[in-house]
Amino acid sequence: MTAQLIDGNALSRTLRTEVAARAAALKARGVTPGLAVVLVGENPASQVYVRNKIKACEDNGLHSVLEKYPAELSEAELLARIDALNDDPAIHGILVQLPLPKHIDAQKVIEAISPEKDVDGFHVASAGALMTGAPGFWPCTPYGCMKMLESIAYDLRGKHAVVIGRSNIVGKPMALMLLAKNATVTICHSATPDLGAMTRQADVIVAAVGKRNVLTADMVKPGAVVIDVGMNRNDEGKLCGDVDFEGVKEVAGWITPVPGGVGPMTITMLLVNTLEAAERSAH
Ligand code: NAP
Repeated sequence: MTAQLIDGNALSRTLRTEVAARAAALKARGVTPGLAVVLVGENPASQVYVRNKIKACEDNGLHSVLEKYPAELSEAELLARIDALNDDPAIHGILVQLPLPKHIDAQKVIEAISPEKDVDGFHVASAGALMTGAPGFWPCTPYGCMKMLESIAYDLRGKHAVVIGRSNIVGKPMALMLLAKNATVTICHSATPDLGAMTRQADVIVAAVGKRNVLTADMVKPGAVVIDVGMNRNDEGKLCGDVDFEGVKEVAGWITPVPGGVGPMTITMLLVNTLEAAERSAH
């Protein structure tokens, strides 16, 4: 059996076209959706991520501002900038690129963002909203995974979903989103003794670990949907996920590739959240 591919690039193109149309409609009413991206320090990976986010805004009719600061910026100075962005009516979404330098308390900075502008969905108010089913912003990566399941019209009701990883930005919110769609959810982590025993029961597997080949073909039930969030490098230095793609694609029913899977969806959902923030403020 060869799995069908869930193409994150193609789905992103479709969703970004919708974002651009909604952004244009909002612009016609005098509101241009605006995203502020705050980068502190010179982390090379962060610089690439930030550049991609800014470009995605530009390409789809969103206004974006990049605020770059040296690594020595103090926590107080950063908090003051967040305050100013909270008060700026041209900015509807604020994203602080992580990781921050060690002397800055990242959670404190995230909590300083107004929940109405928390388009990354990392604020404790956003986490609480997701947990209770209240309106709020969903973290972009698991939100993108949900859109990928939606794109194949996958009905999660009564299905068993296994999420590997329990971070606040991927694993935990992913589990809550799957639960909200009536899946039975198991969360696995580094202390799970027999990962394969869990994943072999799963109709849907989301791997969000950050280690190559965490999921191999023998750990997958035939026909399962496999979503690979991981971003790693293989021996040749090429981007790869957590899933042994070549092996698992022979067993799974659906699979996301790396690259070209969850990665582009994450940025797309950032655009969606920013647009949503602008639409809410315009109403
Ligand atoms: P993280 O905070 O490091 O969390 C990793 C999780 O994996 C932890 O919960 C950890 O368990 C668990 N884990 C580690 N080894 C394991 C093992 N052998 N078996 C089962 N679970 C194990 O990472 P993250 O921020 O969630 O990111 C996960 C991966 O997704 C990374 O590769 C990251 O680069 C990628 N990512 C991609 C995107 C994208 O847009 N494509 C976005 C975000 C993240 P413990 O909690 O017990 O330590």
